[in-house]
Order: sequence, then structure tokens, then C-alpha cells
Amino acid sequence: MKQQHILIIEDERKIVELLRDYLEKSGYRVSCLDRGDTAIPYIKQQMPDLILLDIMLPGRNGMEICKEVRSFSNVPVIMITARVEEIDRLLGLELGGDDYICKPFSPREVVARVKAVLRRVNSDQPEKKLVIGSLALAETTHQVTVNNRELKLTPSEFRLLKVMMSHPNRVFSRNDLINLAQGYDFEGYDRTIDTHIKNLRKKIAEFLPGQEIISSIYGIGYKLNQL
Ligand code: CA
Repeated sequence: MKQQHILIIEDERKIVELLRDYLEKSGYRVSCLDRGDTAIPYIKQQMPDLILLDIMLPGRNGMEICKEVRSFSNVPVIMITARVEEIDRLLGLELGGDDYICKPFSPREVVARVKAVLRRVNSDQPEKKLVIGSLALAETTHQVTVNNRELKLTPSEFRLLKVMMSHPNRVFSRNDLINLAQGYDFEGYDRTIDTHIKNLRKKIAEFLPGQEIISSIYGIGYKLNQL
């Protein structure tokens, strides 16, 4: 199984080190940010599997970050607050956090909560199948169908479609797509992405004539439409 990536956004270094240590020992890949204002671009770029988000942060507070994350992603967010009485207020604001932890906490407790949230999220999609309208993509078998008819895709086309189907309506730059689909940095391969997208559109259009599944966003990139 792929190692899951946990992002910690917290400015208290001691807490970060403690959490990182425990989470890494539990088999997670961990990255950390100590400011709020760099969080959103980082999350869009890295798409972590879970975010531990402190509320009081330099640059931007965790509540705003959580709200914005929810506008483009369903990634589980566990919010960390310094005051137990704040949890009620946070729940009332409907920020979209999946769980709340109050300081001081034991790192064991945090690891247990992380595991519980990830288990809950993962059990929501037992088949690992992405479905957007009549388009279905099975991650385990690498099979893509349109109205139950199989679409033959190249590995690059499959990876691109998987990234876009994971986040319908999100606008991806070509660089986002290169990084997310290929898994590492390429420079100057914009045209390759354009070619893959063109081929994907053509293949999908054979089964769904007249429907624009993938839109070009002028000057930015592409998005997959939630039909
Ligand atoms: Ca803080």
C-alpha cells in the first residue's frame, strides 16, 4: 500500500517534532509547514492524505485555511485548538473539519485519531472507484469505462484522468498535472500534457459526442467537468 502523506501545519516546533516523530514511527510520510499563508498552494500542489491544522498560526489562521481547503478538496482535516471551549464554536462555524483535538494532547492520541479518520475516509470508497457522470475509473484494475463501455487509455492518459477525476471542477495548470500525474518534476513539457489531453478528449468524445468533459481554461490549464 502507498505510504500515506500527513501534512502538519503548526508553528510550535516542539509539537511539530513530537507529532512528526510519532506519525513517522506509525508508517506515515510527514511534511510540515509553520505558517498559514503558504498552506493553500502547498496543499494544492502536494494533495496530502490528511492535514493536522493548528488554528493560531502566523500568516493566516487555521479556520480560514480549513474553509478554503473545503472549496476544492475533501482531504480529511483534523483541527488543533489551544482551548477546549473553542471546539463548540468551531463546530458551529461548520468549517468542515473532520475532527478536533485540544492542546495539550498526547501524541498517541493524535496518531489514534489520524488512523480513525483515515480508516473512516478510506472505507467510504472500498472499491477505489472514481465515478463522474457516466465516466468510471477503477484504480486497482486500471479500467476506465464510459457508460460501461471500456475506454482504452495509455498509462499517461490514465494517470492524467485519475488526477482530474479525483478533483472534478478543479482547474489544474499544466504544471500541476505534470507533477501530480507523473509524480515528479518535469520542466517544459507543457505540450506533452496538451497532447495527452487532446487524445483523452478524442477518446471520450467517441462515446459521449457533443459533451465537453474536459474544458480548457484560457491561460491556466484544464478542468474536468462534473456533469
Ligand atoms: Ca499556534
